[in-house]
Amino acid sequence: MKYYSLNRSCPESNFENAVRKGLAPDRGLYYPKTINKLSNSFFNEIESLSNLEIAYRGIEQFVGLEIPKNELKSIIEETINFDFPLERIENSISTLELFHGPTMAFKDVGARFMARCLRHFNKNTKNEITVLVATSGDTGGAVANGFYGVDGIKVVILYPKGKVSQIQEKQLTTLGKNITAFEVNGTFDDCQDMVKRAFLDNEISSSKELTSANSINIARWLPQMFYFMFAYKKLKQINKQIVFSVPSGNFGNICAGMIAQQLGFPFKKFVASNNANDVVIRYLNSNFYNPKPTIQTISNAMDVGNPSNFTRIMEIYENDYNKIKSNLCGFSFSDNQTKNAITDVYKNTGYVMDPHAAIGFLGCKEYLKTDSSVHTVFLETAHYAKFLDTVEPIIKKKIELPMQIKSVFNKNKVAFQIENYIDFKENLMTL
Ligand SMILES: *Cc1c(COP(=O)(O)O)cnc(C)c1O
Repeated sequence: MKYYSLNRSCPESNFENAVRKGLAPDRGLYYPKTINKLSNSFFNEIESLSNLEIAYRGIEQFVGLEIPKNELKSIIEETINFDFPLERIENSISTLELFHGPTMAFKDVGARFMARCLRHFNKNTKNEITVLVATSGDTGGAVANGFYGVDGIKVVILYPKGKVSQIQEKQLTTLGKNITAFEVNGTFDDCQDMVKRAFLDNEISSSKELTSANSINIARWLPQMFYFMFAYKKLKQINKQIVFSVPSGNFGNICAGMIAQQLGFPFKKFVASNNANDVVIRYLNSNFYNPKPTIQTISNAMDVGNPSNFTRIMEIYENDYNKIKSNLCGFSFSDNQTKNAITDVYKNTGYVMDPHAAIGFLGCKEYLKTDSSVHTVFLETAHYAKFLDTVEPIIKKKIELPMQIKSVFNKNKVAFQIENYIDFKENLMTL
């Protein structure tokens, strides 16, 4: 499979090179040159296929022959070796639980897939790769866990000081070995800007081979299509059109769902569910894209002012505002609305949502007001125990920590303190 840059001023790339580089040389995001619909027989027999087979059929054309079929299957098998349950919350609302992986957020899927692809490509080279990743909360832990101990790969994680939950911080600062954490005195957007600047910095790139494990990287981004497909398999029988409400920050997750739609999955619409960081919603209402600085909220993993995958969404729908509007709508919710949703659902059903999922739930509610004929699914993007300090006071109950979280809770944090780009660069160069 060939990929082109969305800035359209550099040569096409194969899968391996796009994964190794992250961003294209002209700083554009890579995008697949062709997307072929899956066959009718696939959709007819999907209920009888395993998750492994469904995921393989979905991703196969994007990898091509660059990873042999059996190797790709075992990469996928290791990537998705946990459950993806779908739970009914209300008549027309289900939640797709994506927190059963090792760091209890959906990002485990993309991070595990990408780490294994790089491990495969690295088998025959001596070149060490440095993975740079900016995190608003969950990416750091998922990438740290996915790449931990992988030969030939160093991981450097930048996270905004004081703006991630305690557990998120533990997950990305306590592993050691090939994983290094940089605690940046700034916002997520500052972290993301440092990563972008490092890629343009010749002094760095002449001594290190850099890549990114944010959703700009196709191997992090594309496998996120899997669980939309798994959900479809479970819901096909209900004979209602499906609408996904996706709690969105950098818009990688929702954009991967849109790629599944391009493969022929008959999803009716996507709802971008946002906190106060609502640039895409403002775009949908005005046809004018106007990023603003990040606003801090209780759904911190979505505190993104300028989502990097927006250009991919524009590309999917051919930069056609009306086409985008017919496939995507969006709603923004305040912290208070988020807290009230957690309380209400807990009172009515006993189900506990984390703040991100609560925004997804509110997106379903809002959408159903305009069209009650569909079935809505919101993605439960992380386990509520990752947001103890927020969720415990809301549900007024002590939360039992899951195993995955207990295991990092008492470990010691190790992080470099970073004030600015110079600081970041100096520390990076010593690694
Ligand atoms: C990363 C994250 C999001 C946002 O996903 P994007 O792909 O960046 O839109 C939402 N919820 C949680 C819990 C996350 O970790």
